Amino acid sequence: MLELHGISAGYGRNAVLRECSLKVQPGEVVALIGANGAGKSTLVNTVSGLLPCRGGSILLDGERIDGLSPRGRVRRGIAHVPEGRQIFGGLSVKDNLILGAYASEEMRDAAALQERIAKSCHFFPTLQDRMGEAAGNLSGGQQQMLAIARGLMGRPRYLLLDEPSLGLAPLLVSEIFRLVTQLRHAGLSILLSEQNARQSLKVSDRAYVIEMGCIVLQGSSQEILATEEIAEKYLGGG
Ligand code: ATP
Repeated sequence: MLELHGISAGYGRNAVLRECSLKVQPGEVVALIGANGAGKSTLVNTVSGLLPCRGGSILLDGERIDGLSPRGRVRRGIAHVPEGRQIFGGLSVKDNLILGAYASEEMRDAAALQERIAKSCHFFPTLQDRMGEAAGNLSGGQQQMLAIARGLMGRPRYLLLDEPSLGLAPLLVSEIFRLVTQLRHAGLSILLSEQNARQSLKVSDRAYVIEMGCIVLQGSSQEILATEEIAEKYLGGG
């Protein structure tokens, strides 16, 4: 289980997260929903180690990991698929994938690496067909798929998906959410940070609502979908 206990974090003098607690149990999809600037990315970055905790603790299977480097956390089984994909457009699809295995021993074994690439692309046939192409030539949706496949290269147990649907056309947005369900069926536990509250609540078991750096509500996703206040604030019409 991945647990955050009273996490605080920020940038310079700007305190963003205030004592946030959250957990992701094995096999769960947990949504983190909140408006633009609420602190979702800050929380995800704190879990992956890109941003240090200023207070609180992060535990993985009961052991503290908040002192580990990002690489150390990847090795423990946590993959971060960052907001905005962060694909290297000038590198090939394959090289982008290889970068995702940077924390693994298999990096040095060509056959093992090839097998890892094939497994990571299992859900993404388009990528398999375009291995040699520059990643910058892929569409936004394909780049998001590549970012996720790159995350899978570390053979994670926990996947942190930060705004995977951002900037994608509606059809692709649905595809990304379908993929979340497929990944969960493949055995991954997922923390899904999203502004798209309605769809993320539909594919998740539980959810946390973050406002101005604080977790203000948590519960089963069904309950939260049915909460009037949430509907008004985050779900819009329809
Ligand atoms: P978004 O969907 O816009 O990414 P978010 O919920 O992920 O929203 P964060 O990106 O975590 O929100 O931002 C939370 C707060 O932290 C905002 O006030 C933002 O301006 C601030 N912030 C984010 N990144 C930095 C940074 N690198 N330096 C300083 N302040 C930052």
